[in-house]
Amino acid sequence: MTFRTRYTGLIEHYRDRLPVSDDTRLISLGEGNTPLIQLQNISDLLDKKVDIYVKYEGLNPTGSFKDRGMTMAVTKAVEDGAKAIICASTGNTSASAAAYAARAGITAFVLIPDGKIAQGKLAQAMMEGAVILQIKGNFDDGMRLVKEVADHAPVTIVNSINPYRLQGQKTAAFEIVEELGRAPDFHCLPVGNAGNISAHWIGYSEYANQETSICALHKCETGNKAIVDSRPKMVGYQADGSAPFMRGEMVDNPETVATAIRIGHPQSWDFALAVEKESGGWFDECSDEEILAAQKLLAEKEGIFCEPASATSLAGAMRDINSGKIPEGSVIVCTLTGHGLKDPDTAIKQSTAPVVKVDAQLEEVKTAILDNLPK
Ligand SMILES: *Cc1c(COP(=O)(O)O)cnc(C)c1O
Repeated sequence: MTFRTRYTGLIEHYRDRLPVSDDTRLISLGEGNTPLIQLQNISDLLDKKVDIYVKYEGLNPTGSFKDRGMTMAVTKAVEDGAKAIICASTGNTSASAAAYAARAGITAFVLIPDGKIAQGKLAQAMMEGAVILQIKGNFDDGMRLVKEVADHAPVTIVNSINPYRLQGQKTAAFEIVEELGRAPDFHCLPVGNAGNISAHWIGYSEYANQETSICALHKCETGNKAIVDSRPKMVGYQADGSAPFMRGEMVDNPETVATAIRIGHPQSWDFALAVEKESGGWFDECSDEEILAAQKLLAEKEGIFCEPASATSLAGAMRDINSGKIPEGSVIVCTLTGHGLKDPDTAIKQSTAPVVKVDAQLEEVKTAILDNLPK
């Protein structure tokens, strides 16, 4: 028996590539180190043979990748003496901000859109003691207000316009490279504000020791020895009712069942276009039907439960694999951004699993089993 060192979160793990010092008090909940799961049954359903993985970010402490950025943002806010943080959120950022603020002993203010927020996310923010401001408007309205109010009140913004968020989130790319022993050929993500696709590009660029224009604004750790010699093509998928990158302009009234990417005014617009160009990737869009079908397929065929927005990466990737746009033989990673338990209502609404009502008797249970065994 060999004992393992306790994993204490991504800042500690990637300390030499993140902007912290020996004295920095780390605000961590053990985020990162999420599983990279090779798809087995879904690959058999594809028209072409590929090596496809999902990075299950729903297994972070609050159930989404937002924790990777939040541990950095809150650590730095506390280091700078902040007593309060603020964010606009479609749900997951608020859940994460609330948790890390609780851990740090500071206050979180979260602006969430009235209605359109998944139950699980609201429950988290409420339990973790955030001050919840439910606004009569959508995410984009909330984001505008957060930027305005930060000039008038002593609060640190922890949305992805906070540069430390992307620094934390880039570590997902590190983990993928380390586990695959190489960079994938394609990395597919759902895109809302486009912070995460930009963060992954920073991470891949650092490990390949290659330039990206994003580093002009987001200090990257360059000058290190390259760990791999290539970077993936980055592919971003949006919901078709909320697809500013496909329209080529901001969208004012975004609509989609995938509430986490119901964003019409992406904050990382320029970064995302740079990622597309530098990586040779592309943007595309998926319908709500495709997104929900992919979410269900993942759960039914692989036992992996992600929230609707997360399934957008797989929905788009499957289409591009079948069409040959992603060539046969490729190594592909799809990020599953958040956990399925975040949004139980949408899941139950679209579930077709048989629920058989029986009396509490052996005979009835036995009959129900025999009736439902595979033929
Ligand atoms: C935040 C979020 C996204 C979108 O990420 P961006 O960085 O805004 O593009 C996608 N899926 C889930 C589950 C999220 O919480």
